[in-house]
Amino acid sequence: MLQSDQIIRSTCPYCGVGCQLDLHIKDDHIFRVEAPFDAAPNYGRLCAKGRFGMDFVTHPSRLTQPLIRKDFGETPRKAIGLEGFRPANWDEALNLAAEKLAGTVLRHGSDAVGTFCSAKATNEDNYIFQKFVRGVLGTNNIDHCARLCHAASVAGLSIAIGSSAMSNSIAEMKDLDVFIITGSNTSETHPVISTFLREAVVRGNAKLIVVDPRAIEMTEFATLWLRQQPGTDVAVFQAMAHVIVEEELYNKPFITERTEDFESYITTLKDFTPEWAESISGVPADLIREAARIYANANAAAIYWGMGISQSVHGTDNTLSLANLALLTGQIGRPGTGLNPLRGQNNVQGCSDSGGLPNVYPGYQPVDDPEVRVKFEEDWGVPLNPEVGLTTMEMVDAAEQGALRAYYVMGENPMMSEPDLRHARHVMEQLDFVLVQDIFLNETGQYADIILPAASFAEKDGTFTNSDRRVQRIRTALPAPGEARSDWGIIADLAQRVESKLGREHSAGFAYEHPAEIWDEMARLTPDFQGIDYPRLERQGGVHWPCPSPEHSGTPYLFADSFPRGKGQFTPIQFHPSQELPDAEYPFILSTGRVLYHWHGGTMTRRSQLDHIYPEATVEIHPDDARRLGIEEHARVRVRSRRGKIEVKALVTERSPRGTVFIPFHFAEAAANELTQDVRDPYAKIPDYKVSSVAIEAI
Ligand code: SF4
Repeated sequence: MLQSDQIIRSTCPYCGVGCQLDLHIKDDHIFRVEAPFDAAPNYGRLCAKGRFGMDFVTHPSRLTQPLIRKDFGETPRKAIGLEGFRPANWDEALNLAAEKLAGTVLRHGSDAVGTFCSAKATNEDNYIFQKFVRGVLGTNNIDHCARLCHAASVAGLSIAIGSSAMSNSIAEMKDLDVFIITGSNTSETHPVISTFLREAVVRGNAKLIVVDPRAIEMTEFATLWLRQQPGTDVAVFQAMAHVIVEEELYNKPFITERTEDFESYITTLKDFTPEWAESISGVPADLIREAARIYANANAAAIYWGMGISQSVHGTDNTLSLANLALLTGQIGRPGTGLNPLRGQNNVQGCSDSGGLPNVYPGYQPVDDPEVRVKFEEDWGVPLNPEVGLTTMEMVDAAEQGALRAYYVMGENPMMSEPDLRHARHVMEQLDFVLVQDIFLNETGQYADIILPAASFAEKDGTFTNSDRRVQRIRTALPAPGEARSDWGIIADLAQRVESKLGREHSAGFAYEHPAEIWDEMARLTPDFQGIDYPRLERQGGVHWPCPSPEHSGTPYLFADSFPRGKGQFTPIQFHPSQELPDAEYPFILSTGRVLYHWHGGTMTRRSQLDHIYPEATVEIHPDDARRLGIEEHARVRVRSRRGKIEVKALVTERSPRGTVFIPFHFAEAAANELTQDVRDPYAKIPDYKVSSVAIEAI
């Protein structure tokens, strides 16, 4: 058996569980991955991605040198492969990038630049990215993929309690009493979390209520399964609230002490009877009553949800309807209670925490709050833009209108993740300048003018923050391939060159030697992080923020005494049907999501051995629908919507209900987002990836 040269402790780069890994390194390869049994949050557990999905790091198609498009400057720009680029040295690539970015700012103004930071990159990478965008480019046009996954959770929770962070720690899961899972195929999207949740049921006799249209694996462990029609979540949760009020199961002392607007809220629930909800959602009224009673009567009950709740044109309302349930029953602020949006990407929590959003600096400090702005201006020594910036989707709109001219994308793949890709590609073709920084040439890089090769998680130091707000280290285990550099190093270099092209006499400060210095700067400016530094992370392994001082032990569960907004806010909600419903031409509802063996746009997993296990796109279709359409198991089928069409392999299964099909969004050659529609939640601006109408035909 091979003996490792060294074993490096790091954090999984896939999902928001944040599993701790021991990377065994031999001859500059990761040849084995183990999970330490003594380390939170996974305590020895890993899923297929963590165990078998790390070989992407040494895949031969890694980007190893800066690249410049051979037809640089020609528009409309077309998607090209590697052969369309020429190699360049760092000086040439960074100088040209700086010239184009500075030129855009000088000619069209700061807000003509749009930027996309990365939920896969470290907190330090994202902090310095937003510092560059705000302090040098002078815009707040910065956003990341949270907009496309949990923006509605953020919006809804901000209204209800003033914080969008997951209330509880992963460590509490195995001791749960009652819990609801909704809109989360947990065993495939957050596999290690699902093992703790299962343990709560099978060893701890916890009661699980699943609210989901699909027969996900967790339904096998559920006490109740409420199988609603896609897009009717609000009806089910409002009816549960109706039952809780009608049967006086609500928590009077909690409501009096910790909430406001209860009386006016309950008057809005009158018509949301379980029978009404049954007529909308298809969930039997008796099941809704039983679910409401189990949840309200529990000693402690928590709610977990995923993108099935948030990626909806009603995502904010969905979230608010869950928050109303927790506030009615007082199932928040104690161990094993709470509101828990399960974060998707490894560092989507940290990317938001580090200021990768158009409206806030690190630690959710508003950019339009003069006091906050002055604090950052004094620290960075530069004036800052007081206007809230554009979200990802608004940047696409602005580019279409010609107001946004340049786009800088770090470690994300919007050309896979945007809805209605045909439209997104058209917009990308019109931009004056596209700068991409990544580890592989992906579908977005194919539109770049310049590509900067970045180090992967295994080739740099830094921190990720997992779904339960635990800040954890990643460590350099391998040399970066070729000339690839850490994201923070690239940004620091680029920022100084842009400052020089803009003729700035004073630098916002980018002379860092190590990411620990970047963390310390962010912590100095962010009250919730002030008790966390690299030496402490070395000693403890991880710390849950808020952690306001070195003496503070960190905060595994939130809201014990109060909510960030003061009192919890009840919000009346109305049910609205989805915007695109099935009709004679497009008779199926399409829902999109993930499978166990792949991750997001597939940039990493499709370059790992996981792709041998799940190599092509599929569509789940119910046996009755398949029979009617003459579709056999594993047949090739064409799926069409009003926006586009793709060809995929049929999986004939009862997992999706009749009339609904499910397509994973990992496969560029059959991208599910060719089909999805660009309709958005009005508050969170998140697109609806869960309900579009499609037609299916055998090929
Ligand atoms: Fe990685 Fe998530 Fe799997 Fe853990 S559960 S090993 S963090 S993908």
